[in-house]
Amino acid sequence: MNIILLGPPGSGKGTQGALLSQRTGLPRVSTGDLLRSAVQRDTPLGREAKQYMDQGLLVPDAVILGLIEEVLALPEAANGIIMDGFPRTVAQAEAVDRLLAERQTAVDRVLSIDVPEEELVRRMTGRARVEGRVDDTPETIRQRLVVYEEQTAPLVAYYNERGLLTGVSGMGRIEEIAERVEEVVGR
Ligand code: AMP
Repeated sequence: MNIILLGPPGSGKGTQGALLSQRTGLPRVSTGDLLRSAVQRDTPLGREAKQYMDQGLLVPDAVILGLIEEVLALPEAANGIIMDGFPRTVAQAEAVDRLLAERQTAVDRVLSIDVPEEELVRRMTGRARVEGRVDDTPETIRQRLVVYEEQTAPLVAYYNERGLLTGVSGMGRIEEIAERVEEVVGR
């Protein structure tokens, strides 16, 4: 089963992806985590990605598409994966469709985790203090929300047209949200 978690920064995608991974046994892959690790190791990919990440911008598709291709080719992804933080643009969504089709598989379900904007800002500001993420400054938080609206939110329509999208409220306790997510995935 291939599941995509869609949602703005601060919506709790990472937390819910990790819980869903524990409960389903499907691996969760986050392009954000992979990029942060590349930045820390100072690899060529990390050096290229850092300039965009620090500004709250998306890493260009030309750079990300190779990473997505590697992720979907992983042996542990053969039985399906939980995609956290990708696809993030229509070009990435088309690439995911094509790469999965090459493996005779497809996206099975897309969950959009919905959280009002004031709450997103509140959560990301709190996370900046706890985790010290450099892209959680007030300016980059605003920038990342704008980028989400402009470049990633169109995926809601993309997957809705294909009958794959279910919206889930991302408000409430983590456990409650996890139950909503599981209910959708189990259907
Ligand atoms: P995340 O942890 O998913 O919020 O990602 C943190 C940052 O990494 C984003 O603000 C982007 O700069 C970059 N990033 C992560 N995933 C992608 C992606 N699929 N496409 C482009 N940029 C990405």
